[in-house]
Amino acid sequence: MPGATSNPNLKALTEWWEEMGVPFDEALIRALTPAEKPSPEDYRSGKVPDRRAKKRRGSSPQEYVRRASALAAECTSLPDILSALENYEGSPLKSGAENTVVYDGMPGAPVMIIGEGPGAQEDRKGLPFVGRAGQLLDKMLAAINLSRQTNALITNVNYWRPPGNRDPDTEELAICRPFVDRMIELSAPKLIISLGNIPTKSLLGTRTGIIRMRGTEHMLATPGGHECKLIPMLHPAYLLRRPQEKSRTWRDLLLVEQRLKEMGEEISES
Ligand code: URA
Repeated sequence: MPGATSNPNLKALTEWWEEMGVPFDEALIRALTPAEKPSPEDYRSGKVPDRRAKKRRGSSPQEYVRRASALAAECTSLPDILSALENYEGSPLKSGAENTVVYDGMPGAPVMIIGEGPGAQEDRKGLPFVGRAGQLLDKMLAAINLSRQTNALITNVNYWRPPGNRDPDTEELAICRPFVDRMIELSAPKLIISLGNIPTKSLLGTRTGIIRMRGTEHMLATPGGHECKLIPMLHPAYLLRRPQEKSRTWRDLLLVEQRLKEMGEEISES
């Protein structure tokens, strides 16, 4: 029952936790007992919902990645990828997430946007970029006549919300990667925009940070042979915190528009 408290300080605090991906009941417990960490018994008894990433038993991380590659290779459409991921139990993040968040927008669109992974609101709705950062992303795209309704496909490098909105780790990203590559092959974009540090580093295999990478141009080649241009940009969540950086993103959007035009992709005003 989000927002059920009338104490304004407590309300602000629980809302902040919720923004960070902590559900209301857990947020309330944290807000009321800030110094106490839940004990293992709290988790076992169900007093505190256990949303920590579970370590899986049995297969090695490499086997999970191999299984993901085999499943992804069998997919022949984006809905196939969605259902393969919904049935795949290889990610330690899945048990703590409400939904598997895969893509939104137009399969086959000339532009593909790749972000980091679902936050609290995306986890609740099962769609990428539906929170405040997503609303800003829609405005950024609209500035160059792109939209998820007509000519853009939106996805992430990780499909399950990590606990407390922490960054996905290398293993969690490796498990998703075959599906990211397969989605690129099946949708065959002319240009990919990677948003922020994590997708840019993971897609390009670079250690260079987003401040230096944004607005630079790269080629991405998937194992199945699709090649396309990739331009990194600042993440809209970062722009919400630092609106003074928006002018850099405006320059990067104009670059995307220009490159699409050169590739014969006229994006007309709708
Ligand atoms: N941030 C991301 O990187 N992806 C989303 O889907 C939402 C927020």
